[in-house]
Amino acid sequence: MLVNVTELLVRHTLEEHEWESRMPCACEQCRDDIMAIALNQLPSRYVSTDRGQAYVKAQYMNSQLQMDIVRELAVALTKVQQNPRHQGTSK
Ligand SMILES: [Zn+2]
Repeated sequence: MLVNVTELLVRHTLEEHEWESRMPCACEQCRDDIMAIALNQLPSRYVSTDRGQAYVKAQYMNSQLQMDIVRELAVALTKVQQNPRHQGTSK
C-alpha cells in the first residue's frame, strides 16, 4: 500500500487545534476542498507503509515542507471561505 506523505502531513496539520479554530466550516466537503486545493499545489511524496512511519517522522522535521504546507493551507482556506461549495444546490 502506498501512502502520500504530503497528504498525511496536511491531514495532521489540519487536525491541530490552531487550524481547527481557523476553519471556515466544519463540514467534510469544506475540509476535503481545502485539502484538495492545498495538495494540488504541493509535491506528492509516496512511500510504502512499512517504511512510511520513519519517513513521516523525518518529514515532520523538514521545516521547509511544513512551511509550504502551512502556506498552501492558508491559501486554500481563504478560497473555500470565500466560495464554499456546500452552499450551492449543484452536486
Ligand atoms: Zn462546509
